[in-house]
Amino acid sequence: MTVTRLQTRRDVVRGAAAIAAAALARPSLAQGAARIAVIGGGFGGASCARALRRLDPKLQITLIEPNTTFTACPFSNEVIAGLRELRAQQFTYDKVAADGITVAAQAATKVDAQARTIGFGDGTTLSYDRLVLAPGIELRFDALSGYDEAASVQMPHAWKAGEQTALLRRQLEAMDDGGLVVIAVPAAPMRCPPAPYERASLIAHYLQANKPRSKILVLDAKDNYSQQKLFEAAWKELYPGMIERIALSQGGRVTSVNPATNEIVTDFGNYSAAVANVIPPQRAGRIAEIAGAADHTGWCPIDPVTFASKRVPNIHVIGDACIAGGIPKSASAAAAQGRACAAAIVNALAGKPPETPRLDGACYNTVAPGYAFSLKGIYQPKEDQYAEAEVTTSPVDASPEMRRREAERALDWFKTITGDAFG
Ligand code: FAD
Repeated sequence: MTVTRLQTRRDVVRGAAAIAAAALARPSLAQGAARIAVIGGGFGGASCARALRRLDPKLQITLIEPNTTFTACPFSNEVIAGLRELRAQQFTYDKVAADGITVAAQAATKVDAQARTIGFGDGTTLSYDRLVLAPGIELRFDALSGYDEAASVQMPHAWKAGEQTALLRRQLEAMDDGGLVVIAVPAAPMRCPPAPYERASLIAHYLQANKPRSKILVLDAKDNYSQQKLFEAAWKELYPGMIERIALSQGGRVTSVNPATNEIVTDFGNYSAAVANVIPPQRAGRIAEIAGAADHTGWCPIDPVTFASKRVPNIHVIGDACIAGGIPKSASAAAAQGRACAAAIVNALAGKPPETPRLDGACYNTVAPGYAFSLKGIYQPKEDQYAEAEVTTSPVDASPEMRRREAERALDWFKTITGDAFG
């Protein structure tokens, strides 16, 4: 069978060839091998595809992802601070393909939920029995006056890892000592709520060693944020006087930016940045809207037990793109949702009732080399949404030894989660 040849070649097949291969190997559901398509090969999609394969070796699984290399966001703040190489963030899909999953290196451009087909830019289509949407986020270049895609070349967001991460790093390296680094943080919901503060910490680490007269200003469209006490205590201890944060109620919400002058405007003042890291508001990846799975908020409502879209049939939505109540949008959550969604699909295909998922997630924040803290949570469906069942946060007064161990665990976590998703 064509798909088998593709698998044993252990490679990722580009575009139409992969779509054709998946379409050729297409017995009907009645013959027993359901066709599952997964759009998006990030933490959610790759974890889901591999879990589907583990749970049912007969399934015909196609993972659709335009990039042949995935660049992970967790630990990308270390790259920005010069503590890690960008290539340590990068993973191919070779192991995913070796698992017997057809990897199509193409972006999905259409979804017809009634006909159960996915369309591609070159005119080819792929039929499916079930579709999992895991497209991550789209940055809203229409939401902040002055900030469009062209502006992000001058004022990087670095909220999708890759060239933007490297650009922000280069700007910090080129900055004169004494410069002001401004980080603009949007309101919730957003990808990885604590990551802007981890970023501020690690940039402070770099500046302290290399440009000690410089300062960091966090302009925040929120009043409170995740693990705030831990960050504030760490900033006081490690970077006294270097990081200032202006919260929403103090006038921290950014209302416009000017990339020509690097100016950032709030209701209460204008700031001239040497380096401006502007993180714009976000919504679910565009294909979710095209498929009809996103609502007026820009995110996708789901049944929390099965991850089935509440808006379109035979489509499940996982990861950052879905509305998952109390679960923060994170790689941990996306991977756990991917596994739970795979189990729900396999049960549904077998005519079995779904099991109630119990999703666990860990969120590590590294604020200096050998200094990290964490939030660990277990989340379960409650009243049609996810709610925290148990959450533990590192103590504010932990010993240096405990912070060091957390930093080691953070690295172990990254190895495990990327190993599970990409092999
Ligand atoms: P993604 O991982 O973004 O994957 C989506 C994929 O879909 C992409 O590969 C994209 O190319 C693909 N795609 C989109 N549209 C299409 C289409 N039309 N057709 C085909 N493919 C498509 N999380 C943690 O748990 N721990 C951390 O320490 C952590 N640190 C972070 C630090 C930073 C700076 C940032 C920005 C995020 C961090 N996160 C962290 C969050 C984490 O990166 C995301 O929550 C996670 O990547 C979400 O997974 P996902 O699968 O939903 O989306």
